[in-house]
Amino acid sequence: MTDGAASEETRAMGQSILTVDLGALAENWRRLSTRARGAECAAVVKANAYGLGIGPVAQALFDVGCRTFFVAHLGEGEILRRVLRDSAPEPRIFILNGLAPASARFYVESQLIPILGSLPEIAEWAEFCASDGVAHPAGLHIDTGMNRLGLAARDLKLARALSNSFTPVLAMSHFISAEDISAPTNRLQIERFEQACAQLPPMPASLCNSSGLFLEDAPFLDLCRPGYALYGGNPTPGSDNPMRRVVGLSSLVLQVRDVAAGETAGYNARWTAPSRRRLATINLGYADGFPRSGSEGLIAAEVFAAGHYCPIVGRISMDLSIIDVSETGPLRRGDRVEILGPNISIDGLAAESGTIGYEILTRLGARFRREYIYGAEPPPETPTDAPASEEANPSA
Ligand SMILES: *Cc1c(COP(=O)(O)O)cnc(C)c1O
Repeated sequence: MTDGAASEETRAMGQSILTVDLGALAENWRRLSTRARGAECAAVVKANAYGLGIGPVAQALFDVGCRTFFVAHLGEGEILRRVLRDSAPEPRIFILNGLAPASARFYVESQLIPILGSLPEIAEWAEFCASDGVAHPAGLHIDTGMNRLGLAARDLKLARALSNSFTPVLAMSHFISAEDISAPTNRLQIERFEQACAQLPPMPASLCNSSGLFLEDAPFLDLCRPGYALYGGNPTPGSDNPMRRVVGLSSLVLQVRDVAAGETAGYNARWTAPSRRRLATINLGYADGFPRSGSEGLIAAEVFAAGHYCPIVGRISMDLSIIDVSETGPLRRGDRVEILGPNISIDGLAAESGTIGYEILTRLGARFRREYIYGAEPPPETPTDAPASEEANPSA
């Protein structure tokens, strides 16, 4: 460095570190793929691969054998197409949010497949295909209970007629409560989906997200679309997590201080020391995706430091949090504490913060140093020229 800026290594000294174990990710895909029996196992990598970085994540999934990907937006699809531009055979990329108005040609240019979720979208795609003289592929989203996206039963007849102008390659629907194995809606949605498919031209069908794969008599059909479980989230809440841990997050102790009984800590003096306590300030706050609600409930969220669980005290602030380290071993400036890792799961932190693990993942901060590791898994044999992480990982 000649411009006087700190080197990356120096800056890293003050950053929280997010580790993503691509070996564990690959193993999770293999497990889900095995679980799906004969069905194809795709991967949902929307929202920058649930916050973990679409470049390295998609490449690792492709290398382990994944050939179909789902993102939410056209822009995400364009990034993913660039990420996987040299991958052969060319992977399929579906756009879950469907066809954005007046953008059909961009889908075709980047070979992205919209999942059409309403009659206006279907009409627009059909018209584009007719004027282009090519029956481009599209998926069809069937609503079976979410009332969010998807064709209603009354739309199917017209959808079928319009689908003559394009190539329908996937019919899909989405569970509303698959994580609750006893929810009666699971069976109901399966039945509705079967009825809808019977009214459409024959094409591959897909219903299961992560939790759907773990339902009794799970409807694997032709293709499964897991996201959360790939990233180590528990698809079976209430039971042991069948997935391997992918994410680790450690933050830095900035200082340690002793406070006397009766002293307060943090904004608005929401916490008062009940006795003499030792506090540590860490470089993690709500701007990093550490949910502020973790300090607002009756029971505070915890971090893991020097072999002990340490509760947050006072309010989580934008860039900092305070933890009670009175019971831990010696802790000093520059030590790291575990926010997510072997002792604190995504689902655990979410439960303590009144949210779901999906939200924890997708809000992971932009100020972290991100390290992609291969855990116990050896890296893939053929070194693929992985895309530059800058381009591939917009939030890095
Ligand atoms: C996000 C999403 C998925 C993946 O769900 P997970 O619960 O993360 O496995 C699958 N299908 C659709 C339509 C989605 O929006």
